[in-house]
Amino acid sequence: MKLHEICPVELPEADLTDSVYIGSGIRTDLQDIAAQFGVTDTPVICDPNTLNAAGLKNQSDHRIDLGPHAHADAETVGRVSEKLTGAAGAIAVGSGTVNDLAKRACAQNEIPYIVLGTAASMNGYASGIAAILDQGVKTTVPARPPRAIILDCEILADAPARLTQAGLGDLISKPVSDSDWWLADAVEKTGYSELPSLIVDHAVAAAVNAASGLPEKDLNAHGALGTALVLSGVAMVVAGSSSPASGGEHLISHLWDMENVVLGQPTRLHGAQVGVATCITAALYQLLLECTNPVFARVPSRQALETRIQDEHGPLAASILPHARSKNERAEARIAVLRDNWSEIRDGLADRTLPKPEDIRRTLCAANAPSTLAELGETRANTARVFRLARDIRNRITVLDIAFELGILPGRIDEVLDRSGVV
Ligand SMILES: [Zn+2]
Repeated sequence: MKLHEICPVELPEADLTDSVYIGSGIRTDLQDIAAQFGVTDTPVICDPNTLNAAGLKNQSDHRIDLGPHAHADAETVGRVSEKLTGAAGAIAVGSGTVNDLAKRACAQNEIPYIVLGTAASMNGYASGIAAILDQGVKTTVPARPPRAIILDCEILADAPARLTQAGLGDLISKPVSDSDWWLADAVEKTGYSELPSLIVDHAVAAAVNAASGLPEKDLNAHGALGTALVLSGVAMVVAGSSSPASGGEHLISHLWDMENVVLGQPTRLHGAQVGVATCITAALYQLLLECTNPVFARVPSRQALETRIQDEHGPLAASILPHARSKNERAEARIAVLRDNWSEIRDGLADRTLPKPEDIRRTLCAANAPSTLAELGETRANTARVFRLARDIRNRITVLDIAFELGILPGRIDEVLDRSGVV
């Protein structure tokens, strides 16, 4: 069906996915759908697990098999992109990593692709960006959304539970990250629109309500999650950035990833981290709402900032510094706005439907998703450090920056962690 048929509001002109197919058993329509979009006889980008999950193991001979441990990094994009030279399009079979690599590599080749999703594990299917690791830093780079998205509820329900739980974790950040976007606009006039929320909120609510059906492989629950994740990607395209779905909780997750990669340690699922990190940022918002007399921060000098970034981020410092420096240069101006307008901004935040950390944890628990640091395999001490440093890694204002500027952080990190319920 056409995208607008699953969307409750009229969509603006944008480079959006044309068609979305969500239902049981629709994997068999793959070739017909591919033909509609002119991507027949084109490479299938996959890995051994995703090919198996889609039941296509013996069906496709023109494959770009990424292998079992592929990373969505610039080097792999280059490799896939080269293999696509001369192709008229591509079919991606997979979820996060496969979709990101296919999306970026197809964009580089200026060819269309369609995706058969093998897990409701993240909200990037329909987005116009790809999350790629470049020189140690997780960055979002422009790419065209797939022409069509096919999500077979039976495949989604059979996907490893931890992938589905990660999809729910990624989705559940939405009201909190959208508040970060609103807050950034309140202090820096960066632009905010309610349209992305109108596109996705009803679907997020349906997926959250159905979360307890996910472990039981309820097909409707999996369809609801898949629909919400697709619309979350659409919301990002309409917003022109990932801001409505990616705030401070994503920065925490990204820094966990960046440090693990540098240390040669395994990374965890994005959405699993985001779900737990959202409990933390939701708890931080509670402190902002209680903050009636901010003690505004002193802005460090350029030299002091550079020394701190060097000391605290070590091998990642060089790639992080430009982002941190840019934010720091605007900090005085932000604090001036906060000084003059904090009480109105706080009222505005209070009017938003910010979930409490316990609400988020309850939903995660209903789906057996990780809702504590221990379930994530993370320590309190390391999380406290990453929570303190995460704002440095991207030039995007989130609740993490504002909490520092209001004097809430770093002093109350332990209190936030306690109130988040994740420790
Ligand atoms: Zn995400």
